Formats: sequence, C-alpha cells, structure tokens
Amino acid sequence: MILYSLRCSHDHHFDEWFSNSAEYDTRKAAGELTCPECGDKDVAKAIMAPNVGKSRPAPAPAPACGTPMGCGGCAFAGQH
Ligand SMILES: [Zn+2]
Repeated sequence: MILYSLRCSHDHHFDEWFSNSAEYDTRKAAGELTCPECGDKDVAKAIMAPNVGKSRPAPAPAPACGTPMGCGGCAFAGQH
C-alpha cells in the first residue's frame, strides 16, 4: 500500500491509500478521486518527499599529501 498526499485545486490537502501507483492513475482517470472537503475532482499528488531528485554530492577531493617525501610514498600516490 502507498499513502499519497493529495491536493485539490482549492489547495485542500488530504491523504489517500492506494495499492500501487497504477491504482492512483486508474482512479484519477475514472474521476473517483475527490477532495473530501469540497468534492473537487481536480486532484493531484502533492509534493511530499523533498529529498527525491536531489543530486548526489560531488566526491570529496583527495586529501593533501602529508608525507615529507612527496606523493610517491603516500596512500594517494598518483591522485594528486
Ligand atoms: Zn478541496
């Protein structure tokens, strides 16, 4: 089961359970999704997961070489 946060065109928010994402499409196409406050059928999924779609952070750069002999002997040889 999936709980979707839904929102009507009058900005009423409500939650509705679906067995899968296809059931949402089916019920919306059939006009069965209505706002419990105003009966509006113009219902859409509200944005509820702010982290989705966020790009991964760039990999950390190799740390500066701390060995006195230079990069040849350190664990990051060849990377800096
Ligand atoms: Zn409404």
